[in-house]
Amino acid sequence: MIDVTAEIDDYLHRLFPLCRSLTGEPNRKTLRIIQEIVPLSIHEVSSGTEIYDWVVPDEWTVRDACIVNSRGIRVVDFKNNNLHLMSYSVPIHSTMCWDELRSHIHKHDQLPDAIPYRTSYYQRDWGFCVTGAQYEELANETEPLTVRIDTDLKKGSLSYGEYLLPGVSNQEILISCYICHPSMANDSLSGVLLTAFLARELTKSKNRKWSYRFIFVPETIGAITYCAMNEAAMKKIDVGLVVTTVGGPGAYGYKQSFEKMHPINKLIEEVFNESKLTFVTYPFDIHGSDERQYSSQGFRINTATISRDRYYEYSFYHTSLDNLLFVSASRINSTLSLYWQLVRKLESRCIYRNRVPFCEVMLSRHDLYPATGGAQRPNNKCESDLDLVLWLLHYCDGKEDIATIARRLETPLKSLEPTLELLVAKNILEQV
Ligand code: ZN
Repeated sequence: MIDVTAEIDDYLHRLFPLCRSLTGEPNRKTLRIIQEIVPLSIHEVSSGTEIYDWVVPDEWTVRDACIVNSRGIRVVDFKNNNLHLMSYSVPIHSTMCWDELRSHIHKHDQLPDAIPYRTSYYQRDWGFCVTGAQYEELANETEPLTVRIDTDLKKGSLSYGEYLLPGVSNQEILISCYICHPSMANDSLSGVLLTAFLARELTKSKNRKWSYRFIFVPETIGAITYCAMNEAAMKKIDVGLVVTTVGGPGAYGYKQSFEKMHPINKLIEEVFNESKLTFVTYPFDIHGSDERQYSSQGFRINTATISRDRYYEYSFYHTSLDNLLFVSASRINSTLSLYWQLVRKLESRCIYRNRVPFCEVMLSRHDLYPATGGAQRPNNKCESDLDLVLWLLHYCDGKEDIATIARRLETPLKSLEPTLELLVAKNILEQV
């Protein structure tokens, strides 16, 4: 696929400053900007809507937030960095001393220069996140400090984006990313842009075998809302990808889907190996991103993630240092090419089933055996048409794709095609 580094870089700079959260206008603006890349539809679900064990929260709007000292200086200012304000902070305008303020101030224990990212979505609270130096400055103030958070939390809606791309088969592949993080680049934003450009590239490709369901949701509550609103369609999906943390400078890795032996995991490893890239394997666990929802008992979608500097793992995770210096558009583009290879593999996946699985097929009945028996001196190589027939009948079990079988046989896939066609024509193999 073409290199889209320059475009990704442009969108990174436009989208990075927006103060996204679970809900709100910056989320809608993000989705509208993504519409320039791919024509997704934007859906709204009202606050208070009950979905499974959850309720869609009130919509959060921020106008300003600061801590001002007695000399009128804004020691902490939301306008300098939106991570300074804990997400979903309730409004407050009050003057208080440091001892009273302290429990509402969060700093990073290991990274004094970083502003940590903190949220309080479901517990009505307020808070500020600061660097080590700001923390010291506040703690050393002897005079009272003025705290002002000008926010709204009221009935509105949760926004999500959806792009359905039909293929020859109506069997769908889910590709999901989350749009809810404010100014951080690797966590959330890199995945949003990769997903958008992957969708655009797939739109261009003709004769897609599978249908694709691309979704842009706030993490957790958005994915749960989406599952509830699209339950019947989501239940039919077998395989999915959650795209996140794809542009850091560190190691490539992939999180396996909940069934370790599912083909999606094998295909991802093939992509890395064919690209001669080393990678970290993260076995499935119940933590992580929206695969938690898609893997739940009601849906059981085998969902995997290819990442670069995966969430939880890098030191700048959930801090202001996960920024545009940490992430590069060219690395997002490189990871995009891995996702593209994976999609090509999914598209070219062909599976056959031997319709006569009990004992051997009587080959002579189907004109597949030499007229005179007794002359064969077989070896284990696929040197004759008969060898190909026998090996294909041995391996084509309705589960393993033909590209994998070709590799097992150390035979180019192309050279298997005439025999496959012949066996299908004779109604011995069928494509599943
Ligand atoms: Zn996160």
